Amino acid sequence: MINQKQQTSFYLRRLMDMNKKIVMSGIRPTGFLHLGNYFGAVKNYVRLQDEFECYFMVADLHSLTTHPDTKELKINVQRVLSENIACGLDPEKVALYCQSHVHETAELYLYLTMLAYKGELEKTTTFKDKVRLQPENINAGLLTYPVLQTADIILHRASYVPVGKDQEQHLEMARNFANRFNHRYGDVFPEPQAFNFGDELVKVPSLDGAGKMSKSENQFATLYLSDDDELIRKKVMKAKTDSGPTVPNSSKPDYIENIFGLMKLVSSPEVISKFEEDYNNCTIRYGDMKKQLGEDMVKFISPIREKADAIRNNEQYLKEVMEKGAEKARKSARATMELVREVMGLNYF
Ligand code: ADP
Repeated sequence: MINQKQQTSFYLRRLMDMNKKIVMSGIRPTGFLHLGNYFGAVKNYVRLQDEFECYFMVADLHSLTTHPDTKELKINVQRVLSENIACGLDPEKVALYCQSHVHETAELYLYLTMLAYKGELEKTTTFKDKVRLQPENINAGLLTYPVLQTADIILHRASYVPVGKDQEQHLEMARNFANRFNHRYGDVFPEPQAFNFGDELVKVPSLDGAGKMSKSENQFATLYLSDDDELIRKKVMKAKTDSGPTVPNSSKPDYIENIFGLMKLVSSPEVISKFEEDYNNCTIRYGDMKKQLGEDMVKFISPIREKADAIRNNEQYLKEVMEKGAEKARKSARATMELVREVMGLNYF
C-alpha cells in the first residue's frame, strides 16, 4: 500500500518530468518601466522565453498595497504590458497575464499566511521601508507582501525567478514558505531561486547616487523607457559628479562608480575603456562623459519607447494578450491547487 504522501510525490515527479523547468516573475503596474526594471528583470525574461515555460505577470494586486486608488490601474496595466512586449517579450511564447485574473492566487495566499510568522514579516527590509514612506497606510497587505509574492511564484511550481537584487530577501522568504508547506503537508513545490544570467543579481543605481532607480521614487534620477530624448539627456547631465580625481588610479566614489555602471549597460567597450583610462590618469571630463552616456542612453531607449507607444494604442490587441495569458496561467494554477488541496487534506468530503 502506498500512502497519500507517496502518491502525491509520485504525481508531482511525473508532472515535473513532463514539464520544462518553470520560470515566473512579476512587475507592479505603478508607473512607467525604467532602466532598472529592464536590466534587473525584463531583459532576462526575454532571454528565458525560448527555453523555459514562462509565466510573467503584471502584479496589479501588489500595487494596491501602495496605490489603493484604481482610477489609473487600467492605463498603468496597459503601459506595463506594452513596454514588456516592446522589450521583446512574446505573448505567444509566454503566459503574460494580470495577477487579479487568476483567482487561485488568493486561495494559495490564504493557506500560506498560516505558515508565515508576524515576527519574520515585520523584519522584512521592504516592509520597514514602506512603513517609513507611507506611515498613514501601514496595511496588512504591506506586511504580507512576501507571502502573496510566494503564492504568485509557487502557484506555477516555478524554479527560477528573474528579479533584481532588491528582491533577494523576498526570494529567501519564498523558499522558506515553500519548504514549510512541503514539510507540513507533502512535497508539492520546488525551491524557487532568484535568477540572473550573470553571476550576480543586478541593481541599477539612481542618477543622484542615492539608492536604486524606481518607478515611484526619485523620478528625476530614474531613466524611464518612456522618457523622450531631451529628457534623457537632461537627466543624465544632472547626475552627480565632482571636480575629478587628483591622484592617478584612485578608487571611485559611489556616485562616480554609478555613472560608470550605467555606461557599462549601454555603451561600447571602447567608450568605457577610454573613460576608465581618463579617470586613472586624472584627465577625465565628466561633462564629456555624461554627454556620451546621454547619447548612448537615447540610442538604447528611443526604439523601445516608439514600439511601446504603438502597442499601447492597440487596446484590442492588449485585451487579447491578457485573455490568452490568463487562460494559460489559470490552467497551471488549477493543476497546482488540486494538488495543494489534496495534500492539505481539504478534499475530505
Ligand atoms: P519598482 O521598484 O520600480 O516599482 P517592481 O517592484 O515592480 O519595480 O519590480 C519589478 C522588477 O524590477 C523586479 O524584478 C525588481 O527586482 C526589478 N527592479 C526594480 N528596480 C530595479 C533596479 N533599480 N535595478 C535592478 N532591478 C530592479
